[in-house]
Parts: sequence; structure tokens; C-alpha cells
Amino acid sequence: MIPSLTEDDITAVTAVLRSGMLVQGKEVAALETEVSNIVNTKYAAALSNGTATLHLALVSLGIKPGDEVIVPAFSYVATANAVELVGALPVFVDIDPATFNIDVSKIENAITSNTKAIIPVHEFGLACDISGIMQIADKHGLHVIEDAACALGAAEDNKPVGSFGTFGSFSFHPRKSVTSGEGGILTTNDQALVERIQTLRNHGIKPGVSSMDFIEAGFNYRMTDFQAALVNSQLTRLEEIIKAKQLLADIYLNILNTENLSLPSVPAGKNHTWQTFHTVLHKRHDRNKVTEQLKQKGIGANYGAQCIPAVTFYQNKYAHNCAEKFPHALHAFNNGLALPLYPQLTEENITYIAHELNKILEND
Ligand SMILES: *Cc1c(COP(=O)(O)O)cnc(C)c1O
Repeated sequence: MIPSLTEDDITAVTAVLRSGMLVQGKEVAALETEVSNIVNTKYAAALSNGTATLHLALVSLGIKPGDEVIVPAFSYVATANAVELVGALPVFVDIDPATFNIDVSKIENAITSNTKAIIPVHEFGLACDISGIMQIADKHGLHVIEDAACALGAAEDNKPVGSFGTFGSFSFHPRKSVTSGEGGILTTNDQALVERIQTLRNHGIKPGVSSMDFIEAGFNYRMTDFQAALVNSQLTRLEEIIKAKQLLADIYLNILNTENLSLPSVPAGKNHTWQTFHTVLHKRHDRNKVTEQLKQKGIGANYGAQCIPAVTFYQNKYAHNCAEKFPHALHAFNNGLALPLYPQLTEENITYIAHELNKILEND
């Protein structure tokens, strides 16, 4: 994935550098306003990345050792790492193999008297069954932190992701649709919580008062103004970027031969922002071998996300039998293949990649 940077983006960054106001100034404030408008929440707080956002969301809710937090078994590892960072227990739930999102029918089984929150992920930019998750969370009195790192612009029944839970968490890493280099933002409708986040990101300094006072042992999770300027400039093209990716994704969906792999499916009422076009090769294929063959054709494909309980840290710590407990997450990890998808690619590029992949798999 190559971020698309325009001359306007670069000018926006250099303007901040010339202004001398480098950290958490008016560009950060403008970003917070813009994202709260896109996501349709009252508040947004920009932070240094999309892991800091998950971490501070958990800290601000008082989640601590002894507490349990439900996370999907298949995501980028940061989703579970944030739970580890507050000393709580990540409780993994398998995914729906059609959407790669958490299998909502398995969530209630994972709830115990120690469960405090659910972190559903809108994986690869596809809205998960967030209203189904909210029903379960409300019934059990749990917080929901939507990990929408890849999903700015996604929605369920036209309601933006990041506006359902207590918090929505977004990343602006260069692999996401719009980037600030490093960056992230939390969205919420809760005034007390956003003030707590503003305090925690800035060394515990109480926001909005002229006499500086430190009311908590906070972090430094601030965003710089030149990062905010970069993503502000990119956000003017968000819809355009998502549309371009949709067009390219449709070509993959039309050409790729489902006798050899399964394609991502988009349930009715959900929309996909196509942060990643993620396929899963059928069991007889060796994903790493296929990746190597694609590379020889000049095509850079990679695996998509981790079966988190199967990676070394989580295996050493919890030794889950992933094949038994999270078979869909494990299969998506072992045989998942993320194909190139970014706005600079042409329809011809995608057509070529799809045909080459079909050929490789037919001859495998
Ligand atoms: C990218 C990503 C993150 C982490 O975001 P960073 O900004 O890289 O820290 C967290 N969760 C998911 C699902 C992601 O894709």
C-alpha cells in the first residue's frame, strides 16, 4: 500500500512548519471537528496513533487487572495489546469466515462476571454487526470500544461506525485510507470521557483552564499539528478514495475464481471501505508459496491480519488451542491473502493481478 500524497497535502504540512505552532494547535482542533462531523459524534480527540486511542479508551474507563475484555481472535495484534497494556485479560472470540468480523453469536458465551468491555473490530474496513453487538453489550452492561482503525467512512444502515459504542477508535497510519504518518483519533458522545482523554493525552493537565494543573499521572499521546494538517488535507478526498477502491474491488470480485479462494462478502446494510482486499485461499494451497509466485510476477501480496492468540507472545502467555477454539481465525491467518488495492492502481493493474492469481492457483 502506497499512500497517495498530493502537492496540496505537502503544502498543508509545510504551512504548519512555517507557522511555528507544531503541536496540538488549530490543525488538530480542525481535525477533531471534521472527524466528529464524519462520524456524527459530539466529540473527537486526536492522539499519537491508533494503539494509543485503544489504550486511553481502556484507561479512561478504569479497566484494570482482573477485568476481561472481549476481542476478536483475528485482527491486527494492537487490538489485544491494548488490553494487555492495562493488565486486563483479552478474551478471544472466533470470527465469521465470510466477513472476517467477530462472530456475534459466540460473544455471549465469552461473557463472565469479570467482563467489562467488548472491542469489536471493523476488520479491513467492513462494518461489523455493530448493532447486534450493542444489543448484547447493553443487556450485560458492557462498554463497547469500536476498533475502527481501518474503517473511517464505513457505516451500518447509514450510521457511521465509531458512533455506536462508548468510543470509536481510528488510525491514520499510512496503511489506512487517509494518513497523518502516525496518528489516531477517538470519537465519543460522552463529555466527561472526552475531557478525561484530553487530560490523559497531555501529562494529566486539566484542559480548558488557564492555570496549569496536573490532575492525573497522564501520558504524552499528543498529535502534532503538521500530522493533523496532512490528514486534514487528505480528508477532503476521503469519499473519492473509498469510491476508487470500491471500483477496483469490484474488478477483483468479478474476475477472481472462487474455485480456489473465498472472496470477502459484504452483508446487506453494511458498507466496506476496502482498506484491505482480503481473500482466503482454499486449504490445498500454500499461501506463502503463492505469495512468492505473485512476487515473481511483480505483485506484492501479503497476509492480512493475525490470529492473535496464535502469535508468539499470546501462545507463550495463554497457550490457547487455536485450531480448536478459533478455527476460522486460524485459517484466515494461515491462508489469508491481501491483494494490492490502493487508488493509484489502475483497472488494468487489478485485472492483471486477478488473472495472474487465477493462473497460479489453477496450476497449483
Ligand atoms: C492499524 C490498526 C491498529 C493500530 O493503529 P496504529 O495507528 O498503527 O497504532 C489497531 N487496530 C487495527 C484493527 C488496525 O488495523
